[in-house]
Amino acid sequence: MKHIVVVGAGQAGSSLVFKLRALGHTGKITLIGEEADLPYQRPPLSKSYLLGEMARERLYLRPQASYDQNNITLCLGQRVTAVDPTTQTVQLKQTSLKYDELVFTTGSRPARLPAAMGGDLRRVYYVRTLADIDAMSAEFLTGRKVLIVGGGYIGLEAAAVAARKGLNVTVVEAADRILQRVAAPETSDFFRSLHQSNGVEVLEGTGLAELQGDEQVTQALMTDGQKIDVDFVVVGVGIKPNSEIAREAGLDVNNGICTDAFGKASVQNVWAAGDCASFPYMGTRIRLESVPHAIEHAETVATNILGGNTEYIAKPWFWSDQYDVKLQIAGLNSGFSNVVRRNGAKEGSVSHWYFLADRLLAVDAMNAPSDYMIGKKLIESGKSPCPSQIENPKILLKDLLR
Ligand code: FAD
Repeated sequence: MKHIVVVGAGQAGSSLVFKLRALGHTGKITLIGEEADLPYQRPPLSKSYLLGEMARERLYLRPQASYDQNNITLCLGQRVTAVDPTTQTVQLKQTSLKYDELVFTTGSRPARLPAAMGGDLRRVYYVRTLADIDAMSAEFLTGRKVLIVGGGYIGLEAAAVAARKGLNVTVVEAADRILQRVAAPETSDFFRSLHQSNGVEVLEGTGLAELQGDEQVTQALMTDGQKIDVDFVVVGVGIKPNSEIAREAGLDVNNGICTDAFGKASVQNVWAAGDCASFPYMGTRIRLESVPHAIEHAETVATNILGGNTEYIAKPWFWSDQYDVKLQIAGLNSGFSNVVRRNGAKEGSVSHWYFLADRLLAVDAMNAPSDYMIGKKLIESGKSPCPSQIENPKILLKDLLR
């Protein structure tokens, strides 16, 4: 019976081991994770958990008893330091393990500000783990001044929590607009207005030059010369895949661990899934950072490890919660040429539809769940309405599915 070793006890690793058991694997399964906690969901970390509206226990994907009942050996608080594909061994600090099949589900980590920019000062926080949030949450006190560096989804979610808790919040984004890397100007405009109407100062086209302070941060200097006083700083300037160990083991790595469409890495009996993996998608190679992808990718890899032959066809979707707005995104908008706006059923709800000429690529729906659902179904079924149909309020979206 094969011993399957999974490195990285997060969303993908946890999904994968339970899928292996559900598919009937009776051999040994070991799930190794460097964090001390049971595998947990990350999305609430920057939302309800940081806000104090979700208990820690509810973050856990499964209780310890589920791992025991399924005979899954959990090695938590243990980092894999090296992998040797020739001897099929993973190295931990004090021991090593032999594997028959190995899966990397090592996820990703936040990009850090260089120490020369003050990135290592005390009271500068990064948003990835439960420990990160526990460390920063005591700072979220009414009246405190927080600088959020980076106007992507993570930074904006932290800004929304801070504003709701009565802090003085400034967001600084070096690009011309918040969400520039991931969304159209229409979506950036929506979220800029939302944050400004909640009292957040949004600085765009201005970079952070340096964080200053004696051991702990007290001031931030912007590239335009502006200086602001801060009590603490939250950094959300992008993430990097955890692929160094795979690279050192000789696996192909290019913006993540390269796999084929089945999740197989470039070395025998080694696989990868979730945030850490890059895989083929519509003639190119992509890496996705989302919960639905982590689950579906991991479950497909589990099937293939056990002899299946299932290609992973990504169906990207994502969400973000800020104040009372739920953003839902279906599809990938890269390469879009035009965006069409449609008002939703409720006041203030709206969706933005991304097209490449007449081909629908993606939808951003703000408090418009039915627009999101219909957009998702259209994209996944390869059906493309014309932009003029979306724009026309007399045409019911559900009729476009026929
Ligand atoms: P992870 O969940 O990061 O798990 C990887 C694990 O591997 C980690 O625990 C790591 O410590 C461990 N590891 C790494 N290297 C080693 C090693 N050498 N040895 C042992 N263990 C190792 N997605 C959404 O779809 N919607 C959202 O609203 C959303 N919000 C988010 C909010 C936050 C604050 C964050 C951080 C992420 C959010 N995401 C969201 C993204 C989503 O959580 C990730 O895409 C998902 O967790 C990826 O799962 P994963 O298993 O690939 O990686």
